[in-house]
Amino acid sequence: AGFDFNEMVEEVIEDVQRTSSKHIIVKKLNFNKEIFGDRERICQVVTNLLTNAVKYSPDANEVIIYTEDHNTTVQVCVQDFGIGISKEKTDHVFEQFYRVSGNKEHTFPGLGLGLYISSEIVKRLNGRIWVNSVVNKGSTFCFSIPVRQEIPF
Ligand code: ATP
Ligand code: MG
Repeated sequence: AGFDFNEMVEEVIEDVQRTSSKHIIVKKLNFNKEIFGDRERICQVVTNLLTNAVKYSPDANEVIIYTEDHNTTVQVCVQDFGIGISKEKTDHVFEQFYRVSGNKEHTFPGLGLGLYISSEIVKRLNGRIWVNSVVNKGSTFCFSIPVRQEIPF
């Protein structure tokens, strides 16, 4: 059965917003169709990206979440204006237990699993996940998945 994608995204935004009143989560939701796929897993990916955006932008207050309708796929991007990631390190952030170290002003707790799990979920859904980032400017993490999954999870 299908599920309301917007409703799922709104739910994640509400949950993450509760964890930080400092951040303003701006939403630009332009996908209004049903999705046929594993709601729980897709919800987990959105949650991981949004919690990272908030966590790794301690001095910024805005985080933007976009959804776009690409006909056969839906694309979700989460943009922050936080610490960013250097070019050579962005190649590794989807690896199991990988964490960027060496930030002097802040320490961030975590296991280095959120992005690994997210990329495994997205791969199994025949989608892709990627990042664009600039140190001290911020990061944009995006994923896209087919609107209608051919194979059940
Ligand atoms: P957890 O397992 O709790 O998610 P984590 O946040 O450290 O721990 P990932 O979400 O997998 O692990 O992220 C891996 C690493 O990539 C992080 O430790 C961090 O260094 C970097 N990273 C992830 N998202 C961002 C972001 N939005 N901005 C800057 N760095 C990020
Ligand atoms: Mg994380």
